[in-house]
Amino acid sequence: PLDPTTSKILIIGCGTWGSSTALHLARRGYKHITVLDPYEVPSPISAGNDINKIARGRSRHSGSFSGTEDDAVWVSEEVRIKATEGWMKDPVFKDYYHETGYVIAATKPENVRELEETERPTPERGFVELSDAEAFRKTMPEGVLTGDFPGWKGWYKATGAGWVHARKALTAAANEAERLGAKLICGSPHGRVIELLFDSDSGDVIGAKTADGCTHTADRTIVCAGANAPQLLDMKDQLRPTAWTLAHLKMTPEEANLYTNLPVLFNVERGFFMEPDEENQELKICDEHPGYCNWVTDPKTNHRSSMPFARHQIPRISEKGVREFLREAMPHLADRPFAFARICWCADTPDRAFLISPHPDHPSLILGVGGSGHGFMQIPVIGQYIADCMEGKLDERMTRSWRWRPETAVGRDWTDTQGRFGGSDVVMDFQDVKEGEWTRVANPRL
Ligand code: FAD
Repeated sequence: PLDPTTSKILIIGCGTWGSSTALHLARRGYKHITVLDPYEVPSPISAGNDINKIARGRSRHSGSFSGTEDDAVWVSEEVRIKATEGWMKDPVFKDYYHETGYVIAATKPENVRELEETERPTPERGFVELSDAEAFRKTMPEGVLTGDFPGWKGWYKATGAGWVHARKALTAAANEAERLGAKLICGSPHGRVIELLFDSDSGDVIGAKTADGCTHTADRTIVCAGANAPQLLDMKDQLRPTAWTLAHLKMTPEEANLYTNLPVLFNVERGFFMEPDEENQELKICDEHPGYCNWVTDPKTNHRSSMPFARHQIPRISEKGVREFLREAMPHLADRPFAFARICWCADTPDRAFLISPHPDHPSLILGVGGSGHGFMQIPVIGQYIADCMEGKLDERMTRSWRWRPETAVGRDWTDTQGRFGGSDVVMDFQDVKEGEWTRVANPRL
């Protein structure tokens, strides 16, 4: 059994889930927590290092689709309620939650139907139907949405959703964990884990080795390395590292002023945006598509895997997607040069439910992975669930939904769009993007 005063806990990755886990373990009184990351917080390769993320209610994939249907509904609702409570009340997170409401939309009839099923957008639940351009435009101050919204159909909801300042929330969690005594070892080579350490008799995991040659032993090792987790452990194809694309537009001070407190706008085929960030007055736009993998084959094992890499540019085809989205919603911004762009990696499980579980063959190894494109909004509580899992007291419905489940990845269809739409409606491969087909954004802040 673990004793918070003496047990050594090692967390690999101080991104979204790792910082939350360090925070919650420190709050539980654990005195020997070490967190390793190859980068200072906020890591430039963390999916959570971003000016904003959507925080919204029920979606088909919000946290669970792996257990029974009953489990899935309960788990996603429970996580949503607890995360929202965290955003409203937890002093570490509450300054970063903006309950601005949201506009959800689609263009193709089948996607509109899908939204009707997942969102259940009825007036009783606070949704207002938007069926023409004028209705869309009226959801924001005059001059923001200037487009014709061709073929769009959607709904507006004023409460229960909004956006969060992702980078600030992640940094606040890591800082508070450190203040409570967690030891953060960040930077390369000393924070970069190169391999897990195994006990030669039992085969259990006993810690990790970093690129400087140091070994860090622990009673429990928690992997929160996001899209890079498969490089440390054979995940039996349960994770598919997949990247999405984002770009920023510089706003004038007047525009930034006009654009404050906007609802999130999300067309599941086109893309989404939230209000510009206060510091740099930049408006982040994501174009929607089923994502990019980066397929490489290991010559030794012949195993094919999607290998994340960092790049502060996006493929030109994504730039086109961003601009098409702007042309439909805010054509006055459609030709503005990008002030920043990057690809952003997440790790998809086959069913897009999280994977929070001890490893069946290595009982001291805990996995906190599989954000599956929707794992930021839970940062106030995800570390509690990972800590519960480590302490063997995770709720049984969550345990079922988030279990180690290689059987769901046998013969995995790597081309599965997994409920995502947009672009060419196929999962793309960075290997097909030639050097000249990337943007050349100046990225002055790098
Ligand atoms: P990360 O935050 O990526 O953390 C992984 C950490 O591991 C990093 O800090 C990294 O430096 C570290 N690491 C890597 N290799 C090593 C190593 N060898 N040794 C030690 N550490 C290592 N979710 C939402 O809820 N709402 C949204 O609106 C939303 N939008 C998104 C938009 C985009 C473009 C993307 C890509 C994702 C979005 N998500 C959203 C999903 C969400 O960002 C992720 O699910 C979540 O951030 C994943 O957290 P993580 O801790 O698993 O990974």
